[in-house]
Amino acid sequence: MVIVYGTKKKLKIDKSLGHKMCPNCHHTTEQALAREKTAVTIFYIPIVGWVSKRMIFCPCCGESRKLTSAEYKELKNA
Ligand SMILES: [Zn+2]
Repeated sequence: MVIVYGTKKKLKIDKSLGHKMCPNCHHTTEQALAREKTAVTIFYIPIVGWVSKRMIFCPCCGESRKLTSAEYKELKNA
């Protein structure tokens, strides 16, 4: 039997941080607090998933700045 497996990445926006200037594209856009989730799939069904990256995401240029889990928590609860 052949097992089809792979990984899947998904971006989840958690919170809007309001309008701020992006250090990458220098546009003032709504910056978002986001998590990237990675899941291992078998036959295209997600089996295990985990948060692989925490970041501030700019919807304008798609730039993401990586955050530590402590920084993320602080921004989320602010
Ligand atoms: Zn940007």
